[in-house]
Amino acid sequence: MRLHEHQAKDLLREAGVPVPRGIVATDPEAAAAAFRSLDVEFAVVKAQIHAGGRGKGGGIQLVRTEEEASEFAASILGQVLVTPQTGPAGRLVGRVLVEEGLDVKRELYVAALIDREAHQIAMIASDAGGMDIEDVAVDAPEKILRETLDPVDGLSEDAASRLADGLGLAGGDAGVLRVIAQTLLDLDASMVEVNPLVVTDSGELYAADAKVDVDDNALFRHPDLEALRDAGEEHASEDEARRLGLSYIAMDGEIGCVVNGAGLAMATMDVLKLHGGSPANFLDVGGSADAEQIGHAFRIVLEDQNVKAIFVNIFGGILRCDTLAEGLIAAATNLGVAVPLVVRLEGTNNYKGRELLAASSLDMRVVSTVDEGAREAVAAAGGGS
Ligand code: GDP
Ligand code: MN
Repeated sequence: MRLHEHQAKDLLREAGVPVPRGIVATDPEAAAAAFRSLDVEFAVVKAQIHAGGRGKGGGIQLVRTEEEASEFAASILGQVLVTPQTGPAGRLVGRVLVEEGLDVKRELYVAALIDREAHQIAMIASDAGGMDIEDVAVDAPEKILRETLDPVDGLSEDAASRLADGLGLAGGDAGVLRVIAQTLLDLDASMVEVNPLVVTDSGELYAADAKVDVDDNALFRHPDLEALRDAGEEHASEDEARRLGLSYIAMDGEIGCVVNGAGLAMATMDVLKLHGGSPANFLDVGGSADAEQIGHAFRIVLEDQNVKAIFVNIFGGILRCDTLAEGLIAAATNLGVAVPLVVRLEGTNNYKGRELLAASSLDMRVVSTVDEGAREAVAAAGGGS
């Protein structure tokens, strides 16, 4: 789960990282009032969306008066912002952060993250801040500094000093790097990125931007973070599925998949690919779905406009095949499935399940192996070899 910049900054500030003073506003009047109460010569008004690249995308403006603050807020609130990182659909802007402006002398890049390739947690840093780190990695890899974090102790004093040195910071600033690293551990985050970490004309250090990704699987340990979730920023279907206790992943192929279990989801994807198809999505109904949940699952899969065929691939264990069949018949009857439906049912009560499907008047192909099902689904979606 990603946090908004202002939420990430609140957490960093609490931890002891210097962050510019800022106020969140959801309408232009509040943006003007925020400018007034900051009592500064200039401020920056920043669109709060779960994506970066806002500087390039027109989502950030430097303002010198209340009027400018309210004008920019009015121009962007309620609008869809497209940046190099949002994709063409963009993101709806529901709030802005009005923040005291900084006299920027240097922009640095600092991030604590899970380095999956190295199987470690690490801090990476660069004096080429304010740019995409991916670009720096390609154009000037020698500019990227890296230190491994200890899973318990975080960034050691020595490692912090080496990074501070490499960034041309004063020795006293190494502590800030250690706090940023510790924040990754404390929040169970997969990433805490400060880009840019600004050095001002007067030599002060400030986190001018902040991006935090919290590990969804650790959220049960952080009810306070769960409360920061902005459902409007998440894929609507993924969010709905999560609330129903289902897990839904949207992809960009053409076959909708209803499966039970993550392992079967992976295997289903492999077999579809083997036969020249690709999944539009995956809906994992889990081990113990009831007929009603299966109905929801079906509806969610069908709402995806890219779905040209549906492949139901179930291995019944605790989830019995007759329960699945009942749910499927009810859902298909209520929703009116307009695309070809291929069903493979194996496991507990498979005969009962297949009997129910055969007795229904639904138009579907019931198959007995994954391979056959995948081939049928790919052909039905108009692909394959
Ligand atoms: P992003 O484009 O979504 O990553 O948004 P950032 O918060 O990183 O802002 C983009 C750029 O705006 C930064 O790299 C800075 O160059 C600039 N910027 C942000 N805040 C300030 C500020 O207070 N003063 C000045 N002069 N520039 C700022
Ligand atoms: Mn940034």
